[in-house]
Amino acid sequence: MNIAFIGLGIMGKPMAKNLIKAGHTLYVYDIVESAVKELIEAGATACGSSKEAASKAPLIITMLPNSPHVKTVVLGENGVIEGASEGSVLIDMSSISPIASKEIAAELKKKGIEMLDAPVSGGEPKAVDGTVAIMVGGKKEVFDKYKDILLIMGSTATLTGEIGSGNTTKLANQIMVAANIAGMSEALVMATKAGVDPEKIYMAIRAGLAGSTVLDAKAPLVLEGKFAPGFRIDLHVKDLMNAYDTAEAVDTPIPVTKVALEIMKELQSDGKGSNDHGGMIQYYEKHAGIEARKE
Ligand code: NAD
Repeated sequence: MNIAFIGLGIMGKPMAKNLIKAGHTLYVYDIVESAVKELIEAGATACGSSKEAASKAPLIITMLPNSPHVKTVVLGENGVIEGASEGSVLIDMSSISPIASKEIAAELKKKGIEMLDAPVSGGEPKAVDGTVAIMVGGKKEVFDKYKDILLIMGSTATLTGEIGSGNTTKLANQIMVAANIAGMSEALVMATKAGVDPEKIYMAIRAGLAGSTVLDAKAPLVLEGKFAPGFRIDLHVKDLMNAYDTAEAVDTPIPVTKVALEIMKELQSDGKGSNDHGGMIQYYEKHAGIEARKE
């Protein structure tokens, strides 16, 4: 089918390429020309605006950094809402505030355009493999209609509720990941300073209750001092700020998230915002005056 794809960054580019490989016809747009060029080489047709891309296809997919970008692309001048016809569907796969997802969906509804919020978890390697986990909010009949398209980009696509639920689920994911990395960092630095080899700690506990996917993904990198992203601290700060707004809106305490956010913000001011979020350990290392590394 014809699909418009807007936002061809680290994640959007491979996701769009997988749709082309699966036989779909893509109309693409991004403000960065080099990203568009790569997609043209892969067989897509370039468009001059989000409006133009949306006018070419009944399904529009967006993969953008945060809420303001999605609002601009969808509701702004030359945006999706100006080009899309009644009956078309927007699937926003960006990780944004669930409050923004609901606002955007309400504006689109006035023009007869349905929306799913469908953020992903997994990072670039899984976007390339087509195996991200997709968490979706919106109407079941819209989800059912486009589930097969989502499963070209992901290994799972789970409907979690009404519009906004996909992004609420993603925030839950990001809170748990941040808390896990903070806990791991705190524990490894304290134990190193107390005189125990952090690698031995990791090997000793990974099969026990403290073992986790996060521990196995991050500890080996941290122990080697490898902080290239992966998932940048800057992006995680964005997600935790969205979690903060959401918690405020529903009047729920999030003390652990607030501490993780403070740690990440200090790392940003230390110039480490582009580090992988496993780099959170550098906060503890700075204050403890010791590094938790392999011997
Ligand atoms: P990115 O910054 O690499 O890509 C975003 C793209 O959007 C860029 O190419 C940018 O030029 C484009 N863009 C911005 N404003 C635009 C506009 N007005 N019109 C058209 N294009 C515009 O980001 P990414 O890493 O691909 O992440 C996208 C989303 O996916 C984010 O919400 C992120 O939190 C989420 N995510 C990222 C990862 C990851 O590991 N990178 C993993 C899971 C989820």
